[in-house]
Amino acid sequence: MHFYIMTLFPDMVMNGLNTSITGRAIEKGLLSIDAVNIRDYAYNKHNSVDDYPYGGGAGMLMQAEPVYQTYEAICQKSGKRPRVVYLSPQGRTFCQTMAEEYAREEELVLLCGHYEGIDERVLEEIVTDYVSIGDYVLTGGELPAMIMVDAISRLVPGVLHNDVSAEFESFQDNLLEYPQYSRPEIWHEKQVPQVLLSGHHANIEAWRREQSIIRTAKNRPDLLKKANLTEKELEIAKKSLAID
Ligand code: SAM
Repeated sequence: MHFYIMTLFPDMVMNGLNTSITGRAIEKGLLSIDAVNIRDYAYNKHNSVDDYPYGGGAGMLMQAEPVYQTYEAICQKSGKRPRVVYLSPQGRTFCQTMAEEYAREEELVLLCGHYEGIDERVLEEIVTDYVSIGDYVLTGGELPAMIMVDAISRLVPGVLHNDVSAEFESFQDNLLEYPQYSRPEIWHEKQVPQVLLSGHHANIEAWRREQSIIRTAKNRPDLLKKANLTEKELEIAKKSLAID
């Protein structure tokens, strides 16, 4: 999968994404990331890309033309007009289902704003999706873009060592993942649950499913409404909610 990231801070983005699992995926050619510097498309002699907002108000705004020219250069390189996600606190809140949908794209452009944002006119022309990473305001779209690349990349076949590990985890079936344990068997006098040492796969699966339901009921009861639970599982969920 190929990402183009339109940003004023390409080093910030590349330093983060060239690390660990995404870094290895880039090395292996499973992912490629072009962080394109919007400042390279500044059209004045001071190389500036921001200006005061009409009508007054605090802060500066990224101008339309450099953002537009950056996207046109990406389109020329790509030979297509790829989908453009503008990272914005005003967008739809990013979630696992959206990551799954974007992972099906061959190419994706992520547009990072800075200062007070970007001139509305260029957003109207090039942006196809508005995505927020949560109800708070950051200084720029770079961290949100990195979050999106990370969440989407691990769904691209081959990026994780074991593709199964992306299949059974939090948010699958609207349930949070069960608790997990590794060696040693006893740590700080806490024993790994016996069922996990039994080698009995059906019992282990049943225990994990129950733990997922209990955990979701305690931490994210809002998800349970969308989860597909049997009558017996609903009882387990209700009991966990009643206890808390
Ligand atoms: N004035 C804008 C508003 O109220 O909607 C906020 C601008 S913010 C200071 C600067 C940039 O950071 C935005 O253009 C956006 O790209 C990014 N940003 C800030 N918070 C974000 C969030 N929660 N999700 C995604 N991007 C965000």
